[in-house]
Amino acid sequence: MISALLLDRLEALRAAFGRPLVITSGYRCAEHNARVGGAAGSLHLTGRAADVRADAADQLQLKRLACDLEFQEVICGNKKHYIHLALR
Ligand SMILES: [Zn+2]
Repeated sequence: MISALLLDRLEALRAAFGRPLVITSGYRCAEHNARVGGAAGSLHLTGRAADVRADAADQLQLKRLACDLEFQEVICGNKKHYIHLALR
């Protein structure tokens, strides 16, 4: 259910970052999305979003690299230690 384009982009991000990326959330069915408090129109519902574990020290670098790779949603979850990345 996950977008092949998203996987390609995540692989490019991993290569640029130079370290493994731990994906904490990918495709979500509607029930799961509601349970975790996801937005109604979340791109997780269409397999075009992934949340990647990122502590505070890595968030800025990952954000810059993700923007360079033209992810269209790049959102840091400050207290939850992850970065949400999506392609529309
Ligand atoms: Zn997300």
